[in-house]
Amino acid sequence: MAVAKKYDLLVKNVRIVRPGKTSVQKGDIAVADGKFARVGRDIPATDARKVVDGKNLLALPGVVDPHMHTGIYSPLAEDAITESRAAAQGGVTSSINYFRTGQYYLNKGGAYADFYPEVLAISAGRFHVDYAYHLAPMDRGHIDEIPMLVEKHGVTSFKIYMFYGGYGLHGASSHQHEFLMIDEDEKYDVAHFEFIMRGLQRAMEQFEDRRDNISLSLHCETAEIMAAYTKLVQREGKLSGLKAYSAARPPHSEGLAICVASYLANETNCVNINLLHLTSRKAVEAALKMARAFPHVNFRREVTVGHLVLDYDAPTGVLAKVNPPIRSRADVEFLWDAVLDGKIDWVCSDHACCRHEMKVDAKQPGEVFLGKSGFGGTEYLLSGIASEGRKRGLSWNRIAELTSWNAAQRFGLTRKGDIAPGLDADLVLFDPDRTFVVRAADAESSQGYTPFEGQELTGKVVSTYLRGNLIYDKGRIVGPPIGRYLRRPY
Ligand SMILES: [Zn+2]
Repeated sequence: MAVAKKYDLLVKNVRIVRPGKTSVQKGDIAVADGKFARVGRDIPATDARKVVDGKNLLALPGVVDPHMHTGIYSPLAEDAITESRAAAQGGVTSSINYFRTGQYYLNKGGAYADFYPEVLAISAGRFHVDYAYHLAPMDRGHIDEIPMLVEKHGVTSFKIYMFYGGYGLHGASSHQHEFLMIDEDEKYDVAHFEFIMRGLQRAMEQFEDRRDNISLSLHCETAEIMAAYTKLVQREGKLSGLKAYSAARPPHSEGLAICVASYLANETNCVNINLLHLTSRKAVEAALKMARAFPHVNFRREVTVGHLVLDYDAPTGVLAKVNPPIRSRADVEFLWDAVLDGKIDWVCSDHACCRHEMKVDAKQPGEVFLGKSGFGGTEYLLSGIASEGRKRGLSWNRIAELTSWNAAQRFGLTRKGDIAPGLDADLVLFDPDRTFVVRAADAESSQGYTPFEGQELTGKVVSTYLRGNLIYDKGRIVGPPIGRYLRRPY
């Protein structure tokens, strides 16, 4: 008679990295019903249906990439497949995507009551990793829909793009109503941001049990400063490429927007604020000053892998155009100091797959002001942070906090972010000693190029498990897309 096995999967002989700890522990990891069942030493192989030899690799919690833009430049139906494959390749098991109405994305406006079910219908069955969405209230009607989105769809995080009203996505657009697809009597401005915050504050009161999970993310740049400095930089014509773009959207444009956002958050008592992709010394210093000025506001500070790995002398040039811009080496090193100091809460990719034909101007491919903003990078998130972070003394436990636990906590993924009994068995087996050179040709993303091309990184994902299922192994995606929608709190 066959004896029922206790575990579905046993990964033996790994070095287990957990957030909130101060060391890495050798041991085994047992999985049952898609969840971690036991973590410890010498778990008997006879207790499991399938046994994997972890060969002394590091075992990290599946990466939570809390800032992606699946479906921004290509149809969501295509992007969901290819870009979630890129995520799995990078050890990501939870992908949280910023989404909105207006141009790009589904290229339509309207109420989220109609729009969001379409997003979910397109997403279903296409993601290789678990996924969720943050949504941006673009008009007054969307603010009224916040309780519905929380209650019905488990969307608990929202976004403001501070510079969109006055500047558009790429700078060329001054027609905000066309770009944002909102009515003529709507304005996407500071007053609208205040009313979003008031709407969220009401939601925090209404859903008291979910209060800690309801938060607002802000892209902090100031339209007027960017518009004026872009003109200056173009008129002077002394700078080109990424240096010109950084000068055209200067760091104090970030700092000012951070101050405005923080003041409003305090004024409206909208207490959970995420300051997205800080790129510069000025941005980080402004964010820290605001945290001291308004201790009642629970700030989180985010940095992207792009801003931690690339500077404005990167050889890939215009391909690294992104908002806010890639900065100087001095800013990059300041960001790293902030990470090492515990001043940054999580790292993300800001993955926005933008294929070459869309990315650069056909006639003037080197002209940074004509190119589009954003690029993919989720596949290099863990390797990038590990490679550059380890050089600077970042511990593996901190890496697990920055790439998984902290964002999971903030965004209500209560069953993600750690290797502990009862949590989803999302796991990355990682070879910390394997050095590789980034080649876009090796990536699952459909982007076709990468601004990280030629970077030598140390530390590579070997296998990725999603809820105990192997989804990526030694260079190839395994199985069909089994990612599930994460209704939050999850
Ligand atoms: Zn973004």
